Amino acid sequence: MTVGIVGAGQLGRMLALAGYPLGLDFLFLDPAHDAPAGRVAPVLHGAFTDPKLLGRLARECEVLTFDWENISVEALRAHAAPAHAARICPPIRALAAAQDRVAEKRLFERLGIPTTRWRAVGSRSHLERALREIGVPGVLKTRRLGYDGKGQVRVRRPEDAWRGWEELGDAPLLYEEWVPFECEVSIIGARSARGETAVYPLNGNVHSHGILRLTRAPYGPPRWQRAAARHLESCLRHFGYVGVLTIEFFVRDGRLIANEMAPRVHNSGHWTIEGCATSQFENHLRAILNLPLGSTRARGFSAMLNLIGDIPPRGELLARDGLHLHEYGKQPRPGRKVGHCTFVEPTAARRDRRARELLAELAPGLRIP
Ligand code: AMP
Repeated sequence: MTVGIVGAGQLGRMLALAGYPLGLDFLFLDPAHDAPAGRVAPVLHGAFTDPKLLGRLARECEVLTFDWENISVEALRAHAAPAHAARICPPIRALAAAQDRVAEKRLFERLGIPTTRWRAVGSRSHLERALREIGVPGVLKTRRLGYDGKGQVRVRRPEDAWRGWEELGDAPLLYEEWVPFECEVSIIGARSARGETAVYPLNGNVHSHGILRLTRAPYGPPRWQRAAARHLESCLRHFGYVGVLTIEFFVRDGRLIANEMAPRVHNSGHWTIEGCATSQFENHLRAILNLPLGSTRARGFSAMLNLIGDIPPRGELLARDGLHLHEYGKQPRPGRKVGHCTFVEPTAARRDRRARELLAELAPGLRIP
């Protein structure tokens, strides 16, 4: 059985690595000739929108999925016609909502999921009104194609908003309040076509310059877990979702405020490979193939550190007891996620101590709660 994946990045690569023990095959579509998944599976090289290649993927695979969310909804829709063999999971409606920050905010509001105060900004007068109604501090974001903090300008004073308008204003924008959060968390869960759901323990995430640096899980008190799982499940139900879905939250005064969602496996869930009975990658595959979902039980207290820019000497990392290294086979470049490492400890206190020690070496100056 062959799974088609649009996008051959590290997420796709980890999906394939999780699928081989289940006897699955994979075929990717990606324009890059050195994409990480290309080291482990065949890749059709071409644009994500290439109708011929998408058609081939749809014909040659039992199911189509994607490893990043900025692929063309229109191009995918053209291949969701019943004449084609492949189903597309997660649903294109969920992909479309996650691609547009305004659609995403409206969805959260419709489902009663607390989110930031926001205004759509398509003109100078909209921005003026947003500044009047929301105030400062805030953040101006592009509605589409933002990731890892790109396409965002932080607004401390109104002048910053106008500078942001000059920088980003060619594209439709969103202005939202700045949340002085205590911490950031995310929840990941899967739903299969038969309606079975499986939700993972909550992730506590630390970002640096908009890029995820550290995830610890399980994290936070049980009421955060309950609230996050409730919000995730209402999104899964709303879309009749199939696959893995992630929602990221700010925590402010002990309350969860939704920031954004990703209709795919997520960087904050990489720890599940070693830290859970079933990884997010395997559960995504089980869900889209309508197989029973696996247990999301944690094996202990995990920490995952992203390796950004380049990989420290392999031997030095692997000399550490119980440290698991994942290299993505990418060329080093400042700000680029090139790998991650994970360890699992029997208590939260031991995990946190170890995470602080490792961070002090890999990302000096970054403080964690
Ligand atoms: P995003 O691309 O929206 O996930 O933003 C990347 C990171 O920027 C988030 O994980 C936060 O650390 C920070 N950030 C984004 N929006 C806000 C906000 N409204 N208030 C506070 N921090 C934010």
